[in-house]
Parts: sequence; structure tokens; C-alpha cells
Amino acid sequence: MYLPDFDYYAPESVKGVSEMLLEREGSVILSGGTDLMTKMKNGLPVNGMAAPKALISLKNVHRMKKIEYVKGKGVVIGGAATCNDIAYSEILHERYNSVSGAAQSMAANQVRNAGTVAGNIVAAVPSADMPPILIALNAEAKLESAKGERVLPLEEVFAGPGRTVLERGEVLTEVVIPDQAMTGSAYFKYALRKAGALAVVGVAAALQMEGGVIKDIRVAFGAVGPVPMRAPKVEAFLKGKEATEDNLDAAADIARQECKPITDHRASEEYRRDMVGVFTKRAVKKAIAQGHN
Ligand SMILES: Cc1cc2nc3c(=O)[nH]c(=O)nc-3n(C[C@H](O)[C@H](O)[C@H](O)COP(=O)(O)OP(=O)(O)OC[C@H]3O[C@@H](n4cnc5c(N)ncnc54)[C@H](O)[C@@H]3O)c2cc1C
Repeated sequence: MYLPDFDYYAPESVKGVSEMLLEREGSVILSGGTDLMTKMKNGLPVNGMAAPKALISLKNVHRMKKIEYVKGKGVVIGGAATCNDIAYSEILHERYNSVSGAAQSMAANQVRNAGTVAGNIVAAVPSADMPPILIALNAEAKLESAKGERVLPLEEVFAGPGRTVLERGEVLTEVVIPDQAMTGSAYFKYALRKAGALAVVGVAAALQMEGGVIKDIRVAFGAVGPVPMRAPKVEAFLKGKEATEDNLDAAADIARQECKPITDHRASEEYRRDMVGVFTKRAVKKAIAQGHN
């Protein structure tokens, strides 16, 4: 349980971080360290390496810690914003309370004070709490490196359990929730304890209501597939329909078929499928009830 030896650097810019990642063999980004340090202490591989030789900290890259609203762009969450920054952000409370709620549902205060949104995404743990609601809200990830930058829909960042499409030298600097017509959003997490436990099932929904009809909807699942996933069949079924009990029950059944869970020490595949149905219905109802938020 001792940490292996490593070199430590803390550049003051994204370019500096990226250059170090490109120059130093065996280097990885250190953000809050809640995932990385646990792996290193337990001798688990990090980014395919037995043990990283150098940790490149983001702690001096101050621009990556901001959460701001940029007119014409949307809510910009810096990659190094912590889960508690997100949980207590006034901007997010006003615009997307569901995102604050997802951050608040994570771990304990100490972990939320250190763990960051980009760390939650790049660790690519299938049960991670931030991706489903951010995907439902159509969020984009900005990846910057010394060689340039690119922007991807968040759902395209994930390549498999513990794997992303980030290339060597790339830093996830921002998650942007674009301005949108969605009138409500919600995230439901089902875990084995009320606090401090990983999701057994996570379901997020964002939707636009018009005259009692679901005009547009995006639904995303966590912990029931190798990566956080959209639910296009549920979305297609609900689009243009009234949110009657019958329609929501039918959508829940589609959700049970559409998810791709496995059996593990937390729950069986069958149980997860059933809970995805239950929480899809609840998430849609809550998103409708939330109105703007
Ligand atoms: C006790 C405990 C409870 C937890 N409970 C939950 C929970 O309920 N829900 C949940 O979702 N998670 C949970 N976690 C997991 C973890 O805390 C979160 O995923 C956290 O958000 C990770 O962020 P971090 O900044 O600590 O990442 P780090 O550990 O610093 O990094 C994780 C990975 O991401 C990479 N990385 C970090 N930032 C960037 C960046 N900006 N660009 C590119 N790569 C980057 C690192 O190189 C590393 O590979 C828990 C962890 C612990 C220890």
C-alpha cells in the first residue's frame, strides 16, 4: 500500500502540461488524485503502465478550475473544477441543478473536495456519476495539447472500461454544456448505500416539453454498459408523446432491453435491467416536474 517512487511537476499552463506529457516517457496527469493515487497505492496499472514514472499536476493551471457562463456558448466547466465546486456552483444551480445534484451524489466530502470532473471522465469507470447527466445535456469535451485542440461530444470520449480516445499529450480542459431548448433534466443514481457508494445504475434524462408533449429528449445510462451510453430507442419512443403512465411504462420496458449490464459483486444483470426501467421512468418524470432546472 506504499506509493512507488515518481517525479512530480506542476506546470502553470496547459501547454506546459502537454509538453511534459509528450517529452517524459511514463508520465500521466495528476488532478485530484482520488482515482490515480488509489490505483498506484494498490499497484494497479495506470493508462496501461505498471507504474507511472512522473506525475504532471494540474494544480497550477488556474484557468481549468473555473465554472462560468459564456454567452452564446453555454456553461463552461473547467476540467479541474472539483465535484464540490460543481455541487455548490450558483451558475449550475440556476441552470442545471441536475448536474450539481450528480456531483453531490458522489463519494464523501473529502473525495468531492479533491476529485474533478475531468478525472471522473478520463478514468472512464463505467459507474462514474458525471458522464450520464452531461451526455444527456449534450455536453462537449475540449481536448487541448501542445499540438492543437479538438472538441468532441462527451459520449465519444469513452473507448471502453478505463479507456478513452485521448491521445498522448492531450488534456481535457473544459466540459461545455451548450445553450439548449431543454426545459428540464434529472439524474437518478441507485447505489447500495445512501452515501459514498458507486452507482449500481445511473439514469439521466434531459427533455423539452411543449403543450404537454415531449418535444425532444435525451436519455443516458451509467453503470449498465462498458461505457456511459445514450438510449436512442427510449428517446425515439418518447419523442412526440405525452408523458402518460402507459407511455412511461412502455419507455421503461424499452430501457430494460436497451441497456447492456453485466453481473458483478454489486448486482446481477437482471436486477440492473429492472432498475434501469424504474429509474428511467423516475428521471423522465423528475425532468418534466423540474421545469427549467
Ligand atoms: C472513496 C471513493 C469514493 C468514490 N466515489 C465515487 C462516486 O460515488 N462516484 C463516482 O463517479 N466516482 C467516485 N469515485 C472516483 C473518483 O473520486 C472520481 O472519479 C473523481 O472525480 C476522479 O477525479 P480526480 O481529479 O481525483 O482524478 P485523478 O485521480 O487525478 O485522475 C484520474 C485519471 O484521469 C486522468 N486525468 C485527470 N484529469 C485529467 C485531465 N484534465 N485531462 C486528461 N486526463 C486527466 C488522470 O491521468 C488519471 O488517469 C470515488 C473514489 C474514492 C476514492
